[in-house]
Amino acid sequence: MSYVDEVIELIVKQNPGEAEFHQAVKEVLESLRVVVERNEEVYRREALLERLCNPERQIKFRVPWVDDKGQVQVNTGYRVQFNSSIGPYKGGLRLHPSVNIGIIKFLGFEQVFKNSLTGLPIGGGKGGSDFDPKGKSDREVMAFCQSFITELYKYIGADTDVPAGDIGTGGREIGYMFGQYKRIRGAYEGVLTGKGLSYGGSLARTEATGFGLLYLTDEMLKANKIDIAGKTVAISGSGNVAIYAAKKAHELKAKVVTVSDSTGWIYDSEGIDIDLLKEIKEVRRARLTEYAAARKSAEYHEGTGVWTVKCDIALPCATQNELNLDDAKALVANGCLAVAEGANMPTTLEATEYLQKNGVLFAPGKAANAGGVATSALEMTQNSERLSWTFEEVDAKLKQIMVNIFHNLDEAAKEYGVEGNYVIGANIAGFMKVADAMIAQGVC
Ligand code: GLU
Repeated sequence: MSYVDEVIELIVKQNPGEAEFHQAVKEVLESLRVVVERNEEVYRREALLERLCNPERQIKFRVPWVDDKGQVQVNTGYRVQFNSSIGPYKGGLRLHPSVNIGIIKFLGFEQVFKNSLTGLPIGGGKGGSDFDPKGKSDREVMAFCQSFITELYKYIGADTDVPAGDIGTGGREIGYMFGQYKRIRGAYEGVLTGKGLSYGGSLARTEATGFGLLYLTDEMLKANKIDIAGKTVAISGSGNVAIYAAKKAHELKAKVVTVSDSTGWIYDSEGIDIDLLKEIKEVRRARLTEYAAARKSAEYHEGTGVWTVKCDIALPCATQNELNLDDAKALVANGCLAVAEGANMPTTLEATEYLQKNGVLFAPGKAANAGGVATSALEMTQNSERLSWTFEEVDAKLKQIMVNIFHNLDEAAKEYGVEGNYVIGANIAGFMKVADAMIAQGVC
């Protein structure tokens, strides 16, 4: 059996029931076959793939907090410190009822390659909890965040592990977590990113994942001689990534016609009104039915269905495995030219293969959504310098990083004889730097 197949089998056996983690490991290792074959002897001796697929550390803890009725609630907290070979662990904290160890491990694993692709010195980690901030009062969210950090503070720090936002963790949650960390540690340090501007946050961090997604998509389209202006874009999700992806798409003169949330989706023939969407999602924290109620050109549909809309570009920005084989078939039938992942692993393996086989340009999340974590790394730099850069400075750096990422993965794909396969290109480009660093640092 090949080394890749042996390790996939081993990881599946050692981590039972962790479907998303298995999926991520399979996707990455399958696409590394060519590199592994070229270096098989060294990698086997080093047990490189076994080490790569095993987190350096995984922390699981109890998070007790008191709700508004005086009832004690108990959630589970996680932090998976996956790989620190190229820098301190870096990655978000997901707060969502679906969170379990398998989900956090898949996200941490993806983060290792994503962070490497940014070209910045950040290792990979991920964390979170099954706590659901939806419907909770500010005080309840604060109680949870304080309890979460009261345990997690032992394992994080500006030079060891720097968490950030993800689904369910936005500016409010990061603020409460930062306050509690500072209080316990008695130190003011850049231990979290995505902070508010008044206490060490970076301009353009909020916009970064969505903007970065469009910078990379635009570069990919240009390389394939397609102009983004005038194109119709379907976006799923309506959180931070979706909102700023839509904003940048409009700035590039494309028209975004859909967004979605956990209960339904919007089709807006006039193009999504970003200010209205921001008001509903960021200020009122309400459902998309309110968007449809406020706008004549918008239709609200229950359930899923964004990918049935005719579009040139599809940007899945909601969550993992939200775009399946049927969705991919619908996109191809409607003439979709490109799919770029704003979320982490939103496209299933079968759907990705189908899209690629049918000539759809496909940018995987670990490249396409790396703008968020890249700008987090820029926030870390500013914190270390005790300086703040202007919006324009950060945005220009972000754009350059995304353009570089695209060219790195494009070149890696060409070098390994799979031109245009950006999935393989991204995995190889992300892997090479981590593999070099791991081997150079000896058995650890
Ligand atoms: N959660 C984001 C991601 O998936 C951002 C992580 C960060 O800024 O550290 O990459």
